[in-house]
Amino acid sequence: MPSCAICGKNLPMLGINKVRLKGGDVVCFDCVKKAGHNPMTWTKNLSTTVDMLQAEIAGINKAEPEKQKSDIDIMKETFDKRRSSLGLGAKARVSDTFRPDKSFYKRFYIDTIHKKWQALGPVHNYSDLVSYEYQEDGGTVVSGGVGSAVIGGALFGSIGAVVGAATGKKKLSDYVNSMKIRLTVKDMNNPTEYIDMNPVRIRMKRSSGQYRKNLEETQEILSCLELIIRESQKSQRAPENSKTTDAADEILKYKKLLDAGAITQEEYQAKKKQLLNL
Ligand SMILES: [Zn+2]
Repeated sequence: MPSCAICGKNLPMLGINKVRLKGGDVVCFDCVKKAGHNPMTWTKNLSTTVDMLQAEIAGINKAEPEKQKSDIDIMKETFDKRRSSLGLGAKARVSDTFRPDKSFYKRFYIDTIHKKWQALGPVHNYSDLVSYEYQEDGGTVVSGGVGSAVIGGALFGSIGAVVGAATGKKKLSDYVNSMKIRLTVKDMNNPTEYIDMNPVRIRMKRSSGQYRKNLEETQEILSCLELIIRESQKSQRAPENSKTTDAADEILKYKKLLDAGAITQEEYQAKKKQLLNL
């Protein structure tokens, strides 16, 4: 397994989580961000060595600790850049609770305010997305999802990296017929959805511009899917707060009992300690 040439973090082969530098070293997204670059849009990677990147990180740290951008910030920036060139497709079902502000090739829509998305089927919450898989001619090339070790994000500027990494051991066929993203959704009636990335059904040579264009669009949607899963996992990890609130509520209840003379000061203190884990 490769590891980041700067921080040493392991980088799973299949993950879209690394950037290749001049000299062939790979570094993780975090180290690229620390140097002040957006790993999804940074194009100077192949003319930057590890030493140069390290110097940039050191320089930034010395200057002022720049606020590290969250993945969602980066996603928004990346999408905003493309926004002007993309129109909303006819399939987006705009309503009061779904107003997509991001559109991907008339196949995938996101409402980042209401945290909803839609492919070709119904509108879903972020948390409905369980996993995704990119398939070429029915075989899985890359996958990710809740609890998966595969880390997404996009490696714009190195098209083919995903396919190359996943199929490194196998010999690639020269032609590709179908390119599909399979989504697994928390929906009993319709647990699987497909986004067809080659709807015209033309047989493409792997070296063709059409294939590369389709692959680039695929990567963009895949990175989106990964970020949606990460964001919904983040918000599901929030119960820490509600625990604290529960404890506070409980303490208030016991305080009322104390004030009413129903329990003693000692009993109240003991209960409070227990609730606060002191
Ligand atoms: Zn690193």
